[in-house]
Amino acid sequence: MSRIVRPDAEGLRRAADLLRAESVVAFPTETVYGLGANAFSAKAVGEIYRLKNRPTWNPLIAHVANVEAARALAETWPDVANQLAAQFWPGPLTLVLPRARHLDGVGASDDTIAIRIPDHEVALGLLEASGLALAAPSANRSEGISPTTAEHVLRSLPDVPLVLDGGPATWGIESTVLDVTGETPRLLRPGALPLRELTDVIGWIDLPEEAPDDGAARPSPGMSRRHYAPRATVVLAKDVRDVDRAGLAGPIGVLTYETADVDGAEILSADPREYAADLYAALHRLDDAGVATILVQEPPRHEDWLAVRDRLGRAATK
Ligand code: AMP
Ligand code: MG
Repeated sequence: MSRIVRPDAEGLRRAADLLRAESVVAFPTETVYGLGANAFSAKAVGEIYRLKNRPTWNPLIAHVANVEAARALAETWPDVANQLAAQFWPGPLTLVLPRARHLDGVGASDDTIAIRIPDHEVALGLLEASGLALAAPSANRSEGISPTTAEHVLRSLPDVPLVLDGGPATWGIESTVLDVTGETPRLLRPGALPLRELTDVIGWIDLPEEAPDDGAARPSPGMSRRHYAPRATVVLAKDVRDVDRAGLAGPIGVLTYETADVDGAEILSADPREYAADLYAALHRLDDAGVATILVQEPPRHEDWLAVRDRLGRAATK
């Protein structure tokens, strides 16, 4: 039986059975494909860390079906969480909240928990069918490119027992992570939900500081420097046409966006949302083509490109 499964009633039932048996299942969300497991089963969560080879200091996001289920995981629920949940859930916003005292699991070692409600029919159907909160990091080996299709999942994680196929992810980039445990909300990871939409609703947000790349605990542990990286070496350039290619390992693939014309390049949209939706698939394609170097035209230094620039920067880090 194929492990890529249609998300019909039968597919959801098989997936929910696996989750209740403390196994893992990959499923589509609006951001990227997630590797899901019962967030409060040590065995199931351990399987996520093992399959992904994810460092144990990097905690997981708990996915729930509704605000009531989210509140049950938090020790306190600040007003700002109400505002944000009303405006952006279901959607690509993860809130870090004080963790309800009776809970452990989701791999975290401190007193907080990251929560979101995914905006995807299949993800919500699976949450409903399993009756569980699901820890679900991106369904790829740690540090690799996040999967935006069911095929990407199996290529990166061939041992996943089942992948629900929801077609290509619409956002194609991970959720925005916002810490609301302190006085002022703090951006931990730029992501699919643009910063401006958040500041429009809640006003001021503290932006992340540069974290040292020492593998030690940090406010958003997943923000280690190297991440989201293809097999090939990624080189960012202000203008890919000016780069001296003699110094780069070949074959060389070029990733640019509309307006910077380069022969033989992968050309993505000049719109940041469309660019983000295609970025990981393009990196997967270049990897599959066997290039040794991916030369990337740096997107504009504009707030709308924050999440894309973050991911490209991490992909380019050795
Ligand atoms: P992923 O699920 O792989 O897209 O990554 C989840 C992101 O959420 C990572 O950047 C984690 O470090 C972050 N995260 C999860 N739980 C917490 C938490 N309790 N506090 C801060 N960041 C968190
Ligand atoms: Mg990930």
